Amino acid sequence: VLVTDARRAEPTPQAAAPTNGAAAPRSSPSSSGDGFGEIVVSQHIPCRRCGYDLIGLSHRSICPECGLDVWETLTQAVDPAASRLPRLRKPVRVGNALFLLATCLLTAVLLQALPALGSLVRGLEWSSLAGAEAPQWVALMGVVPAMLGLVAVFLIAHPPPEEPAKRVHLHLRMLSLGLLGWASLSSLAPLTAMFEADATMQTLARLAAAPFALVGLIGLRELLKAIGQRSRTYRRSRGGRQSVDAMIAAQIARIIGFGLTLLAQVGTAPALADFGEVLIWSSGFLMIVGLLYLVGNAWVIRSSLVKPPPGLNEIVGHVPPAGSGV
Ligand SMILES: [Zn+2]
Repeated sequence: VLVTDARRAEPTPQAAAPTNGAAAPRSSPSSSGDGFGEIVVSQHIPCRRCGYDLIGLSHRSICPECGLDVWETLTQAVDPAASRLPRLRKPVRVGNALFLLATCLLTAVLLQALPALGSLVRGLEWSSLAGAEAPQWVALMGVVPAMLGLVAVFLIAHPPPEEPAKRVHLHLRMLSLGLLGWASLSSLAPLTAMFEADATMQTLARLAAAPFALVGLIGLRELLKAIGQRSRTYRRSRGGRQSVDAMIAAQIARIIGFGLTLLAQVGTAPALADFGEVLIWSSGFLMIVGLLYLVGNAWVIRSSLVKPPPGLNEIVGHVPPAGSGV
């Protein structure tokens, strides 16, 4: 922050509140921005409540028109929490790549789900072979957006997006590994269906990609935590973070579902087949909902990376010398 302290030690009253003598120093240090010393608004910033131009007012004073704390307007105009974070190296590229990644993931999952959904709509019975009736090459096409997602991760990763890059690097690796494994292994399921492999082989093929999806999602969650902090809207939307957690839970349920289906197919517990299928279907549904949320959130994060709020130093200045009126 470029704003330097006009020493707090000297008990200067509000030097810059000429229009309103009632602008008494506030006593609660936590919410009034006391850590910034003495600063005044140096740009035309409209009061958040009434639109009064706050230029020249101290950050500790109140709006002469409506009495709202100037500091409250300032914290809305800037994003102090975001400006305290490490710098993003290529914010626009990271924002675009994040949105591309989310869109790719959604497209890939939708393509993979289409044949199975089609067969469900046609009212076929709920068995693991139901999808074999639908055009499996559609599901196979899911590999294309999934691989494109890897390009997006590469764009985020080079150079590493965040200044202290170590932790972010680890999560980017998890994301790449998970995406690569998921993209390649998820092609096994439509292939085994096309070549009419036996039911156990098909279930194994569908199971194979799931652990990679889980690893990738954990990496994605941490990456979103790091990058999403720059967006106030994302920080405040609890649903954004929870939707990734929900997708992780859905993947775990999916793996359990495949496990139960396998047990049923091997013959040890045939009664588990229906339960396994229900888990697989509901987790797939949750994944699609979660990915829709992810696309929306990636757009929100992208918007604030492309056009970040101004820094506090850009809209405030030093306190004028004592005695100089405005
Ligand atoms: Zn006002």
